[in-house]
Amino acid sequence: MTTMQAAVLRGIQQLAIEERPVPEPGPGEVLVQVNAVGVCGSDVHYYQHGRIGDFVVERPMVLGHESGGVIAGVGPGVDASRMGQRVSVEPGVPDLTCPECLAGRYNLCPDMRFFATPPIDGSLAGFVTVHAAFAHPVPGSISDDAAALLEPLSVGVWACRKGRVSAGSRVLITGAGPIGLVATQCARAFGATEIVVADLNPHRLKLAADLGATATINVADTPLSEAGTEPTVLLECSGHPGATVDGLRTLNRASRAVLVGMGDDGLPLPLTFIQSREIEVTGTFRYANTWPTAIALAASGQVDVDSLVTGHFPLAESEAALLAAERDPLAVKSVINPQQ
Ligand SMILES: [Zn+2]
Repeated sequence: MTTMQAAVLRGIQQLAIEERPVPEPGPGEVLVQVNAVGVCGSDVHYYQHGRIGDFVVERPMVLGHESGGVIAGVGPGVDASRMGQRVSVEPGVPDLTCPECLAGRYNLCPDMRFFATPPIDGSLAGFVTVHAAFAHPVPGSISDDAAALLEPLSVGVWACRKGRVSAGSRVLITGAGPIGLVATQCARAFGATEIVVADLNPHRLKLAADLGATATINVADTPLSEAGTEPTVLLECSGHPGATVDGLRTLNRASRAVLVGMGDDGLPLPLTFIQSREIEVTGTFRYANTWPTAIALAASGQVDVDSLVTGHFPLAESEAALLAAERDPLAVKSVINPQQ
């Protein structure tokens, strides 16, 4: 096979299915036949607006960065026995030589080449090449969908690590979208004993309760300030300014706030509150070294990402997959099958 289909963003709200050559794996790379791609909010944002902050789509770009598949080719220097291996693709390859990479913080590498972040093409295509070390083998107990969704699961793992969630933690999660829902499950797996999830969408709150939240708050009915919760860790997964500030203000002394949702530079934070309580505030930017943990959590059944999937789409219907969450309040995570 020399050509493949790819879902290419050609402009704002212009998605085309194009015939493209199958890429050749370079030295140290593998070729992955992509079997499942999860739709992320960032894909939808690029589709709707053509940009996220400083990242602007200036020429056609293949979308997609949550992907699982099978190794279908190896480049020079890669063990040929990896052919046929089922893998989950970690979609950002850093330069592995800069001070951040050498310090182990490769997610902060300034030369990161991240799938579906301009100008790098993503994985919403029949095949994709990636550094062999970033194609993580998965056991047979992990489905193709789950292999793809180890990427958002990694965001949840990283959020819990940054928040130092551990046995006995009391965690507040604002936002019950896919990231809030994986963060809920990760918090439980990390040992949190109180996991309160806040959102406006009753369906998603129900899902959060099913996946391990010990309590849920519908902020349409009960403001966070009146919910009586006093967490030791806030995992802010909504990016909503009100949720961020209100969530911060519930925090106990010497607690931690982890900003995972995409925020707004103009948001005024309650600095006196933060200072007088010695609250630590940190952002998260993707993740580093999370796949081994994500694979173990999914393979052991401690985290269930398959239950987040609310729709499957062939590649030709990628646009419908992108729009599903906006059109249907019951939709959580769309998965596209590039081989269909
Ligand atoms: Zn680097």
